[in-house]
Amino acid sequence: MSDHDHEHEHGHDHDHGDHDHDHADHDHADHEHDQAGRAEQQARRQLALSQIRQYGDPVLRMRANEVEAFDDELARLTERMIGVMHDADGVGLAAIQVGILRRLFVFHDEDEDRVVVNPVLTVRGNDTEVDEEGCLSLGPIRMPVERAVEVTLDGFDATGAPVHLELEGISARVVQHEIDHLDGKMIIDRTDPDSRREAMAQLRPRLVLSR
Ligand SMILES: [Zn+2]
Repeated sequence: MSDHDHEHEHGHDHDHGDHDHDHADHDHADHEHDQAGRAEQQARRQLALSQIRQYGDPVLRMRANEVEAFDDELARLTERMIGVMHDADGVGLAAIQVGILRRLFVFHDEDEDRVVVNPVLTVRGNDTEVDEEGCLSLGPIRMPVERAVEVTLDGFDATGAPVHLELEGISARVVQHEIDHLDGKMIIDRTDPDSRREAMAQLRPRLVLSR
């Protein structure tokens, strides 16, 4: 799941505690530093996105298999996925999106990176909510998706230790989105017919070009 809303919201804290410097020079240096930082961030984002399967890739429509071994390879995979997720400015990433057909995903929840292997989702209550969602496999396209407001998530972390999370709101939305990926489902299947038509119209020209 992508999250463009929290992007580029860096505060400009110029408290360097060094007031003897020529102010104009200082601002100029900061400006160049910011620009270089942004360019590097953009390059990292592009590199991350190039590792993520994009809509039209048949892997995204497959069902991932249960993870059986909690070994070093799994630990390395989850570390790599967390890096790709952050570099791509996402808040969640399923293994299937990096071409690995296994039931696991990573997501960012309350300043913590979480790994959930062999996830099982239980919906609590009957409340649902419609909100805009994006996907790292769909470029900049966003569309409204209805999701359960409260869910319970069970599974394992990368070491095989049990994970039990009671989630609501945005975190509940993110995990429902990622679990969909493990079953070959995408937000385009979940949105309303008008939004689907609109998204398809945006996606089609890209598919033709990439042929
Ligand atoms: Zn997605």
